[in-house]
Amino acid sequence: MHWHSRLVQPQTLAAPGFESLATPTYRGSTVLFNKQADVVDDWDQAKSGYAYGLYGTPTTLELSGRIAQLEGAKHSFVVPGGQAAIALIYFAMCKAGSHALVPYNAYGPNKEMAQGLLKDLGIDVEPYDPMIGGGIAELIRDNTTLIWVESPGSVTMEIQDIPAICQAAHQRGVMVALDNTYAAGVLFDAFAHGVDISMQALTKYVGGHSDLLLGTVSAETVPNSKSL
Ligand SMILES: *Cc1c(COP(=O)(O)O)cnc(C)c1O
Repeated sequence: MHWHSRLVQPQTLAAPGFESLATPTYRGSTVLFNKQADVVDDWDQAKSGYAYGLYGTPTTLELSGRIAQLEGAKHSFVVPGGQAAIALIYFAMCKAGSHALVPYNAYGPNKEMAQGLLKDLGIDVEPYDPMIGGGIAELIRDNTTLIWVESPGSVTMEIQDIPAICQAAHQRGVMVALDNTYAAGVLFDAFAHGVDISMQALTKYVGGHSDLLLGTVSAETVPNSKSL
Protein backbone atom coordinates (compact mmCIF):
# COMPACT_ATOMS: atom_id res chain seq x y z
CA MET A 1 0.00 0.00 0.00
CA HIS A 2 1.24 3.50 -0.82
CA TRP A 3 2.01 5.44 2.34
CA HIS A 4 -0.71 7.96 1.45
CA SER A 5 -3.23 5.13 1.72
CA ARG A 6 -1.68 3.80 4.90
CA LEU A 7 -2.06 7.22 6.51
CA VAL A 8 -5.84 7.16 6.07
CA GLN A 9 -6.29 3.38 6.35
CA PRO A 10 -3.94 2.33 9.11
CA GLN A 11 -3.88 -1.31 10.02
CA THR A 12 -4.98 -1.25 13.62
CA LEU A 13 -2.47 -2.95 15.84
CA ALA A 14 -4.37 -2.97 19.15
CA ALA A 15 -5.57 -6.21 20.69
CA PRO A 16 -8.40 -7.71 18.60
CA GLY A 17 -11.97 -6.98 19.63
CA PHE A 18 -11.81 -3.25 20.10
CA GLU A 19 -10.27 -1.71 17.01
CA SER A 20 -11.08 1.95 16.74
CA LEU A 21 -10.33 4.47 14.02
CA ALA A 22 -9.34 6.99 16.69
CA THR A 23 -7.33 5.07 19.25
CA PRO A 24 -8.61 5.81 22.76
CA THR A 25 -6.29 7.41 25.28
CA TYR A 26 -5.28 5.03 28.05
CA ARG A 27 -3.83 6.92 30.96
CA GLY A 28 -2.04 6.03 34.11
CA SER A 29 1.05 4.48 35.55
CA THR A 30 -0.81 1.78 37.43
CA VAL A 31 -1.88 -1.34 35.61
CA LEU A 32 -4.12 -3.84 37.39
CA PHE A 33 -3.45 -7.57 37.17
CA ASN A 34 -5.77 -10.42 38.11
CA LYS A 35 -3.14 -12.54 39.77
CA GLN A 36 0.49 -12.24 40.66
CA ALA A 37 1.51 -14.81 38.06
CA ASP A 38 0.30 -12.38 35.37
CA VAL A 39 2.94 -9.86 36.40
CA VAL A 40 5.85 -10.38 34.06
CA ASP A 41 8.82 -8.18 34.67
CA ASP A 42 10.63 -8.39 31.34
CA TRP A 43 9.33 -5.02 30.05
CA ASP A 44 8.48 -6.45 26.65
CA GLN A 45 4.90 -5.24 26.23
CA ALA A 46 4.68 -6.49 22.68
CA LYS A 47 4.98 -10.03 24.07
CA SER A 48 3.76 -9.89 27.64
CA GLY A 49 1.07 -7.22 27.73
CA TYR A 50 1.08 -3.98 29.66
CA ALA A 51 3.06 -3.38 32.81
CA TYR A 52 3.77 0.33 33.21
CA GLY A 53 2.49 3.36 31.35
CA LEU A 54 5.74 5.02 30.40
CA TYR A 55 6.88 1.96 28.46
CA GLY A 56 3.68 1.32 26.62
CA THR A 57 -0.04 1.67 27.08
CA PRO A 58 -2.31 0.42 24.29
CA THR A 59 -2.28 4.04 23.06
CA THR A 60 1.49 4.41 22.86
CA LEU A 61 2.03 0.95 21.42
CA GLU A 62 -0.55 1.70 18.72
CA LEU A 63 1.26 4.96 17.96
CA SER A 64 4.68 3.37 17.82
CA GLY A 65 3.32 0.54 15.63
CA ARG A 66 1.83 3.04 13.18
CA ILE A 67 5.00 5.11 13.03
CA ALA A 68 6.94 1.89 12.38
CA GLN A 69 4.52 1.05 9.54
CA LEU A 70 4.90 4.49 7.96
CA GLU A 71 8.69 4.48 8.22
CA GLY A 72 8.99 0.85 7.11
CA ALA A 73 10.68 0.05 10.41
CA LYS A 74 10.50 -3.15 12.39
CA HIS A 75 10.48 -1.41 15.75
CA SER A 76 9.57 2.08 16.88
CA PHE A 77 9.90 3.40 20.41
CA VAL A 78 8.03 6.45 21.69
CA VAL A 79 9.92 8.86 23.94
CA PRO A 80 8.90 12.17 25.58
CA GLY A 81 10.35 14.42 22.85
CA GLY A 82 12.62 14.71 19.83
CA GLN A 83 15.59 15.68 21.97
CA ALA A 84 14.93 12.62 24.17
CA ALA A 85 15.09 10.50 21.00
CA ILE A 86 18.46 12.06 20.13
CA ALA A 87 19.75 11.41 23.65
CA LEU A 88 18.53 7.80 23.60
CA ILE A 89 20.44 7.15 20.37
CA TYR A 90 23.65 8.68 21.72
CA PHE A 91 23.42 6.69 24.94
CA ALA A 92 22.62 3.44 23.13
CA MET A 93 25.46 3.78 20.62
CA CYS A 94 28.21 5.61 22.52
CA LYS A 95 30.09 5.20 25.74
CA ALA A 96 33.17 6.83 27.30
CA GLY A 97 35.91 6.66 24.68
CA SER A 98 33.51 6.66 21.69
CA HIS A 99 33.84 9.02 18.77
CA ALA A 100 30.74 10.19 16.90
CA LEU A 101 30.25 12.43 13.86
CA VAL A 102 27.48 15.01 13.55
CA PRO A 103 26.88 17.38 10.59
CA TYR A 104 27.40 21.12 11.19
CA ASN A 105 23.80 21.79 10.18
CA ALA A 106 22.22 19.32 12.65
CA TYR A 107 19.43 20.44 14.95
CA GLY A 108 21.12 22.86 17.39
CA PRO A 109 20.39 21.12 20.71
CA ASN A 110 21.88 17.89 19.30
CA LYS A 111 25.23 19.69 18.97
CA GLU A 112 24.79 21.48 22.31
CA MET A 113 24.29 18.14 24.05
CA ALA A 114 27.36 16.80 22.24
CA GLN A 115 29.56 19.68 23.32
CA GLY A 116 28.27 19.74 26.90
CA LEU A 117 26.90 16.60 28.50
CA LEU A 118 28.48 14.07 26.15
CA LYS A 119 31.90 15.70 26.23
CA ASP A 120 31.84 15.56 30.03
CA LEU A 121 31.04 11.84 29.79
CA GLY A 122 34.10 11.20 27.63
CA ILE A 123 32.23 10.95 24.31
CA ASP A 124 33.95 12.87 21.52
CA VAL A 125 31.45 14.25 18.99
CA GLU A 126 33.09 15.82 15.95
CA PRO A 127 31.18 18.15 13.59
CA TYR A 128 31.52 17.50 9.85
CA ASP A 129 30.59 19.22 6.58
CA PRO A 130 27.12 17.90 5.61
CA MET A 131 28.14 17.89 1.91
CA ILE A 132 31.11 15.58 2.52
CA GLY A 133 29.42 12.49 0.99
CA GLY A 134 31.67 9.42 0.77
CA GLY A 135 34.60 11.59 1.93
CA ILE A 136 33.36 10.89 5.44
CA ALA A 137 35.44 7.71 5.27
CA GLU A 138 38.50 9.82 6.13
CA LEU A 139 36.90 11.02 9.38
CA ILE A 140 35.98 7.54 10.64
CA ARG A 141 38.28 6.35 13.41
CA ASP A 142 38.61 2.95 15.04
CA ASN A 143 36.54 4.21 17.98
CA THR A 144 33.79 5.80 15.84
CA THR A 145 30.50 4.21 16.88
CA LEU A 146 27.86 6.58 15.47
CA ILE A 147 27.39 8.89 12.49
CA TRP A 148 24.46 11.30 12.49
CA VAL A 149 22.87 12.54 9.29
CA GLU A 150 20.11 15.11 8.90
CA SER A 151 18.77 15.83 5.44
CA PRO A 152 17.59 18.46 4.80
CA GLY A 153 19.66 19.88 7.64
CA SER A 154 18.11 22.21 10.19
CA VAL A 155 17.61 25.73 8.86
CA THR A 156 20.19 25.71 6.01
CA MET A 157 18.54 22.74 4.23
CA GLU A 158 21.54 20.97 2.67
CA ILE A 159 20.67 17.58 1.19
CA GLN A 160 23.21 14.94 2.16
CA ASP A 161 24.44 12.00 0.09
CA ILE A 162 23.09 9.52 2.60
CA PRO A 163 23.74 6.30 0.61
CA ALA A 164 27.42 7.29 0.21
CA ILE A 165 27.75 8.11 3.93
CA CYS A 166 26.03 4.84 4.94
CA GLN A 167 28.27 2.83 2.64
CA ALA A 168 31.42 4.36 4.13
CA ALA A 169 30.07 3.88 7.65
CA HIS A 170 29.04 0.26 7.17
CA GLN A 171 32.44 -0.63 5.72
CA ARG A 172 33.85 0.27 9.13
CA GLY A 173 30.99 -1.30 11.14
CA VAL A 174 29.57 2.09 12.16
CA MET A 175 25.83 2.75 12.60
CA VAL A 176 24.15 5.71 10.91
CA ALA A 177 21.33 7.58 12.67
CA LEU A 178 19.09 10.01 10.82
CA ASP A 179 17.08 12.90 12.24
CA ASN A 180 14.13 12.41 9.89
CA THR A 181 11.95 15.12 11.42
CA TYR A 182 11.91 17.37 8.35
CA ALA A 183 10.61 14.55 6.16
CA ALA A 184 8.00 13.56 8.78
CA GLY A 185 9.33 10.03 8.49
CA VAL A 186 7.61 9.57 5.12
CA LEU A 187 9.04 11.94 2.49
CA PHE A 188 12.46 10.36 2.88
CA ASP A 189 12.66 6.57 3.11
CA ALA A 190 15.48 6.22 5.63
CA PHE A 191 15.88 2.45 5.55
CA ALA A 192 15.81 2.20 1.75
CA HIS A 193 18.80 4.56 1.74
CA GLY A 194 20.82 2.47 4.18
CA VAL A 195 20.16 4.30 7.45
CA ASP A 196 20.18 2.10 10.57
CA ILE A 197 18.22 4.26 13.02
CA SER A 198 15.66 6.94 12.19
CA MET A 199 14.34 9.37 14.78
CA GLN A 200 11.67 12.00 14.61
CA ALA A 201 10.41 14.83 16.74
CA LEU A 202 6.70 13.94 16.56
CA THR A 203 6.37 17.38 18.17
CA LYS A 204 6.60 18.77 14.63
CA TYR A 205 4.65 17.49 11.61
CA VAL A 206 3.15 14.36 13.14
CA GLY A 207 1.72 16.17 16.17
CA GLY A 208 0.60 19.08 14.01
CA HIS A 209 2.67 21.65 15.97
CA SER A 210 1.80 23.26 19.31
CA ASP A 211 -0.22 20.28 20.52
CA LEU A 212 2.21 17.83 22.04
CA LEU A 213 5.82 16.92 22.68
CA LEU A 214 6.86 13.43 21.57
CA GLY A 215 9.62 11.65 19.74
CA THR A 216 10.27 8.25 18.18
CA VAL A 217 13.29 6.10 17.52
CA SER A 218 12.78 3.54 14.73
CA ALA A 219 14.95 0.74 13.44
CA GLU A 220 14.66 -1.99 10.85
CA THR A 221 16.52 -4.45 13.03
CA VAL A 222 17.66 -4.22 16.61
CA PRO A 223 20.91 -2.25 16.26
CA ASN A 224 23.95 -3.48 18.15
CA SER A 225 26.39 -0.87 19.30
CA LYS A 226 29.95 -1.50 18.14
CA SER A 227 32.11 -2.68 20.98
CA LEU A 228 35.21 -0.58 21.59
C1 LIG B 1 12.27 20.11 17.12
C2 LIG B 1 13.29 19.21 16.60
C3 LIG B 1 13.89 18.24 17.43
C4 LIG B 1 13.58 18.13 18.91
O1 LIG B 1 12.25 17.90 19.20
P1 LIG B 1 11.58 18.26 20.63
O2 LIG B 1 10.35 17.40 20.67
O3 LIG B 1 11.31 19.73 20.61
O4 LIG B 1 12.57 17.88 21.69
C5 LIG B 1 14.82 17.40 16.87
N1 LIG B 1 15.18 17.49 15.58
C6 LIG B 1 14.63 18.42 14.75
C7 LIG B 1 15.09 18.46 13.33
C8 LIG B 1 13.69 19.30 15.23
O5 LIG B 1 13.16 20.21 14.40
